[in-house]
Amino acid sequence: MESLTAWFTKVRSLLAPSMLHCLICGKTSRPAASLPGICAGCEEAIPWIRRPRCQKCGRHVGCPDCSRSGEAVPIVCNRSAVAYTSVMREILGQYKYRGNEQLAPLLGLMLDRAYIQLTAERERGQQGIAENQSTQRTIKSSFFLSKQSASNSRWQADLLVPVPVSESRLAERGFNQAERLADVLSGRRGIPQLPLLVRTHHTGKQSFKHRAERIADMKHAFAVNPDVVALLQFENWLETLGKRTRPLKIVIVDDIYTTGSTIRACAETIRTLCNGYGKVAEIYSLTWARS
Ligand SMILES: [Zn+2]
Ligand SMILES: [Zn+2]
Repeated sequence: MESLTAWFTKVRSLLAPSMLHCLICGKTSRPAASLPGICAGCEEAIPWIRRPRCQKCGRHVGCPDCSRSGEAVPIVCNRSAVAYTSVMREILGQYKYRGNEQLAPLLGLMLDRAYIQLTAERERGQQGIAENQSTQRTIKSSFFLSKQSASNSRWQADLLVPVPVSESRLAERGFNQAERLADVLSGRRGIPQLPLLVRTHHTGKQSFKHRAERIADMKHAFAVNPDVVALLQFENWLETLGKRTRPLKIVIVDDIYTTGSTIRACAETIRTLCNGYGKVAEIYSLTWARS
């Protein structure tokens, strides 16, 4: 028969968090509280972008890019989960180029935080509008209005569209990292995702190019997916929305936002597609990291 002390030790070891082999630092350590596969220390060191300095592209530092060009941007805004520090670059490299697929749930959950942040921001925005309207009315009706707006202000994306990779890259990597990220988000938030886009040509390694080169290169890099199945899925999805007249809230998903040229090119293609069906699209992007 077990002694009471032995029993207590056993219970304590069952209750205490077991040690884990961290996917980031490789050490055996105490697990993180809210992210899978990493240690508490690495979780604390994640460079979250909690308050973006640039409201447009979600950058954590001052951003000359968005203020420089006067051209209209086809997205409402981009939000990224983390700043692309050397540690984050290493993690993405492990996942993308060295095929460590164990990292997929971790990166997906991190992207989910950016989604929550975007949702909160949009809801605050909607509430701001409702409150402005309500100040024009009596106090009594403004109370009613703000209560009503609070219950109606759940912001939710309608559709996720992952940035596609080229056929050759897909063959070499075996998966599209953006699609995997969108899978996690889609599963957690119940938002459908559709592969609406394809890459029309192989653009080469973007990291070796200058800003202007990248932008020029990206302009016609995407097209609507010619796959009939994808288009039928899109049409079916449109049908589920019924006669809704407000814009479709579409979120483009990718691993990293650098100059934004990829996202802009994708957004243009999505917008054209939606217009072809007589729909107006309000396009956002969510990226795991912002460089
Ligand atoms: Zn660690
Ligand atoms: Zn910006």
